[in-house]
Amino acid sequence: MALEARIPRAFPNVKFLSYHSKKRILVTGGAGFVGSHLVDRLMLQGHEVIVVDNFFTGRKRNVEHWSGHENFELIHQDIVNPLFIEVDEIYHLASPASPPHYMYNPVKTIKTNTIGTINMLGLAKRVGARVLIASTSEVYGDPEVHPQPETYWGHVNPIGPRACYDEGKRVSETLSYAYAKHEKVSVRVARIFNTYGPRMHMDDGRVVSNFILQALRNETITVYGHGNQTRSFQYVSDLVDGLIALMACNYTQPINLGNPIEYSIEEFALIIRNLVGGKNSIKKTKAVEDDPQRRKPDISRAKLYLNWEPKVRFY
Ligand code: NAD
Ligand code: UDP
Ligand code: UDP
Repeated sequence: MALEARIPRAFPNVKFLSYHSKKRILVTGGAGFVGSHLVDRLMLQGHEVIVVDNFFTGRKRNVEHWSGHENFELIHQDIVNPLFIEVDEIYHLASPASPPHYMYNPVKTIKTNTIGTINMLGLAKRVGARVLIASTSEVYGDPEVHPQPETYWGHVNPIGPRACYDEGKRVSETLSYAYAKHEKVSVRVARIFNTYGPRMHMDDGRVVSNFILQALRNETITVYGHGNQTRSFQYVSDLVDGLIALMACNYTQPINLGNPIEYSIEEFALIIRNLVGGKNSIKKTKAVEDDPQRRKPDISRAKLYLNWEPKVRFY
């Protein structure tokens, strides 16, 4: 089959960049939910894209439409092991992101976010690449400041069940600024808030996919705890816009990327049930340990430095 024919109709218009504007871009975790959407955008912009993934939660299917394209390469590798390639930019997204996934093997989650990040910073240092770290709103823990600005240092339980992820990402940020200061590596840090969209894993375990699946299957919708805890949900295309703008900008401090429209989880369950059109019951089950009670980004920095704000409404 001709290579062009393998690219779905959704992606017909790959740009052809000149030698000077075309970059070699590494996306770690590029076979995952967010990473694969980022890969689509970078490929369509005409860049050369190298995906490194160990397929823990990601799937080849998410990027297989680029397989065989001359600008695309997929490397099956664990980021905890050193990687020697030549690139201009690194989007470092490799890490499980859903609580059941990152709690599955907490030691591995910590290694991925510490040793894996050191390897990417070491690579960036050697080749002079700019690196963008996918951090998270979880660095704010169960926040005492609401909404959360980037200047808030957070409230994280260092030994709780979420700590492998929260503290892993906090160290990942610390490493980034240590390499920036000591080794002159050019770093960008995105603090990503809850994101949803196509290609979320059916068994992802996060609230959006759980509620939609439960509603579609006419099962009971499970709200963990009292349901008054809040989250703010952004659509994945908005996040991809923000990541690309952040990589390109001169601002080097962390930037929140999220949608500031906030819902309680109980309210969210009702919205999903109505959208799907089901008549499911909604049941409150046992609360999960250390569940952050409120989450809403202050996006003033993103507006100011990236001229970015979410465009896609939830419904
Ligand atoms: P995901 O689980 O769909 O994708 C993560 C990808 O990383 C997967 O393809 C997985 O196989 C890969 N991976 C995990 N460990 C690896 C390792 N050791 N070596 C190589 N590859 C590895 O998750 P996502 O939602 O796409 O999240 C992507 C990034 O964004 C993560 O760093 C996550 O922490 C961050 N983030 C996501 C959200 C969100 O709501 N989706 C929110 C905050 C932060
Ligand atoms: N590293 C890598 N690819 C490279 C360069 C470095 O994976 O192209 C890894 C290497 O495993 C090293 C880590 O990055 O352990 C940190 O590199 P750095 O140069 O900062 O430290 P050092 O090698 O001096 O310990
Ligand atoms: N949640 C829920 N039912 C589910 C999955 C999650 O009530 O089936 C709640 C969870 O307790 C949390 C919120 O929804 O308060 C968001 O959870 P998610 O795992 O999506 O993300 P995170 O806690 O990392 O923001």
